[in-house]
Amino acid sequence: MATASCTGYRAVVEASGEVVAGPVLGERVAWLTALTQAMTAGIVAERWDARDLDLLAGGVGPDGRVLPVKGWVAIRRLGWGCAAAAGSGGVYLSDRVRRCAEEQAARMLRAAVHRRGVVAAILATWPRDPRRRDEVERKALRAALPQGVSAAEIRNRTRQIRAVLERDGVLPGDLTEVEEPPRVAAQAVLAAADRQLVTLIRTGESSAMLRVQLPLKATPASRKDWAWHAIAMTLPPTVGAQARPCTPTVRIADGRVRIDLPFQSPIPSARAVGHTVAPGLDWGVNTLLTGSVARLRDGQPREGRVCADGRMLRYDATVISAKLHRLRGHREHLAAKRDHCAALLSGLNTADAHDVRRVALERGLRVVAVEHERVCARIRRLDHALAWSAARWAVDQAVALGAGVIYLEDLATLEARGVRRGNAALSGQVRGMVIEAIRHLAAKDGVAVVTVPARGTSRYCPRCGEGGSVLRHVPAPDRPGERGWKWAYCPACGLSCDRDHAAAERIAARGLLGQRHTRTAPGTGVRTIAVVVEGNVTRARRRNRPTRAARRARRTQTDVHPRPPARARAKTRPTPKRRQVSRTKTFSRVPDRRTVPAPDPGTPGMGKRPAGQAPQASRSPAGRTGPVRNPHHRTGFHRVAATPVLPLGTYAGGPPRATPARNAGNLQANTENRRR
Ligand SMILES: [Zn+2]
Repeated sequence: MATASCTGYRAVVEASGEVVAGPVLGERVAWLTALTQAMTAGIVAERWDARDLDLLAGGVGPDGRVLPVKGWVAIRRLGWGCAAAAGSGGVYLSDRVRRCAEEQAARMLRAAVHRRGVVAAILATWPRDPRRRDEVERKALRAALPQGVSAAEIRNRTRQIRAVLERDGVLPGDLTEVEEPPRVAAQAVLAAADRQLVTLIRTGESSAMLRVQLPLKATPASRKDWAWHAIAMTLPPTVGAQARPCTPTVRIADGRVRIDLPFQSPIPSARAVGHTVAPGLDWGVNTLLTGSVARLRDGQPREGRVCADGRMLRYDATVISAKLHRLRGHREHLAAKRDHCAALLSGLNTADAHDVRRVALERGLRVVAVEHERVCARIRRLDHALAWSAARWAVDQAVALGAGVIYLEDLATLEARGVRRGNAALSGQVRGMVIEAIRHLAAKDGVAVVTVPARGTSRYCPRCGEGGSVLRHVPAPDRPGERGWKWAYCPACGLSCDRDHAAAERIAARGLLGQRHTRTAPGTGVRTIAVVVEGNVTRARRRNRPTRAARRARRTQTDVHPRPPARARAKTRPTPKRRQVSRTKTFSRVPDRRTVPAPDPGTPGMGKRPAGQAPQASRSPAGRTGPVRNPHHRTGFHRVAATPVLPLGTYAGGPPRATPARNAGNLQANTENRRR
């Protein structure tokens, strides 16, 4: 299940056939969302106390029956509905609109019940030092918490409670003392309504029609003030042909009608066991992902059951991570400036409206606040783009290798271990987003994503670590005597390789050897291996296809690099310089100014090209429609160095390489010729 965000540009009023343009449609949708928002906020604020949240958490209605899953029905069963309150204001609302408001209130209150459970568990096991829990306190907390609470959530809630403790001097008793009633978003959850308020029909491969009743006034007084609107929308390409769209949620964003359309698509099931080829991925400090491909050779002696090829798969986002670091610094700087301005303003005399300093400070505060928002948005978007690009790369690698599984380092154990952080280290948030994105994309291709314990992956040698040899970490391969981070050297077996690459080989081995310990979480489908099964990894090089020169040499029984004939070696004088054909020098750097005359602006259809390098013609031969080989096209970032995605070649003893598709035609022709 995923959500596509579509835009409604115009609508047709069905009764009159009148076409409603974007701004008017936006106004009417905004009236609808304002009505539901007010009702939802009323319910949430009224029920924001311990007694009512207890009632909802209990899951049993006043009549002794279990509360239904549907939120709006549960709210009505509890007698919390908004029927009476809305009718008194003289506003005409259909029962379906009230359902939408009640559904949203139910979702918010149920989310609050979950948060309340977390807060209650943290309060019950409040540590002696709120900044750090020891092993006993951590175990007690885990026992008290509900299932599936992440470490980040625990950290954030602990900080929140600590802030209340520092402010009031005593621990809060309940979630309602920690938080105000949550802010209600202006949106209409149409999923709670039925065909009398909304219908959705898919009209084509990439189009759908949303029919919805919208108010014609801000305060509709009767049924006549509501009308059916048909909104045609374009579906993004992520909504496949087999996807089944569900009833959407509408809202206004940037003055436009946004339709958040959930859709379900069938996915192949991913196996948990029975894998023989798998990539193992390790998190680096700046290099986002480092991977290695491993193959399980069953039936072989225990020594070297897992075999890796020496190729390192790498998604290197060092430059993007440095950019993010700069942006984060800038954001902190702006936040400090904004707070300083606000502090100065609060110290000024409020009575004097014409104070020159006040006017200047207010203007400064406005500018800085807007800039801060923009930098935050930039960081958010860059994080998002980077995470999805890396996930796409990882899943593409797995699919190209024919692997049915990806083994990843478990972030939870990574956090407990305390990763050494560089200045420009990628935040844990990006890593969390990458895992989520990999799970989503891999599911579509039927590839399982399994996390393995991270403890000791970079400590022990992948070649002989089963016997307990510890790797020595050095700064570079030629400085084995110094202490460092980047390079791994094994004094026992002489292995010398990149630190993350060694860890990735061990992760792939732990996954492949521990397959039968794979556990699937029932609610979320998240797969993990909690048991460490160690095994040494041998490394086999892929057999290279001989080059054309080598093949010719074998055929003609000659040397691969024959000496040139004697005539060519009889050199009597230095090679003369070639006459320079063009006097134009080329520079690789982008010129500041235009180096070529501008095209004639009088030519129709010919605009001025901006300064900079002239656009290069496509390098690929015309008519060729093969895969784009440039990895930059794959990642979408100019400065990310990602290993190209290649299909798996043959190992020594592995299955033969599949015939490339472009040779299939020739092969068939050859066979037919032979038959003739
Ligand atoms: Zn070793």
